[in-house]
Amino acid sequence: MSEPPDPAAPRSLDVALKGLCPRCGARTLFAGSVRFADRCSACGLDISAFNVGDGPAAFLILILGAVIVAAAITLELSLSPPFWVHMLIWIPVTAIAVVGALRVSKAGLLALEYRNKARGFRSGDAR
Ligand SMILES: [Zn+2]
Repeated sequence: MSEPPDPAAPRSLDVALKGLCPRCGARTLFAGSVRFADRCSACGLDISAFNVGDGPAAFLILILGAVIVAAAITLELSLSPPFWVHMLIWIPVTAIAVVGALRVSKAGLLALEYRNKARGFRSGDAR
């Protein structure tokens, strides 16, 4: 196993769950609900140099989609609620789950890229 680049760097799990800067541990990783900041305002780490791509979103579609559909089918088969109950439950649950899981998975992937020094393309290069 490789050593972390900096002993003061936060654990990857903390970066993922709390949205911390992978170098200094300040809570500066996100500028929007699921959008990374360009750079860490505490230590100046160039966050835009990391590109986590569409990997997190692709995983989320598959995993969350399966979980939520299974939950909706279970609810329908056990209680048979009217359709508006499904709408009331699954639309907000899906939205919250996607935003929450997207933050965690994007931050987690970025933490691993930082740890493994896997800096690839800048986010604008591929377009
Ligand atoms: Zn920082």
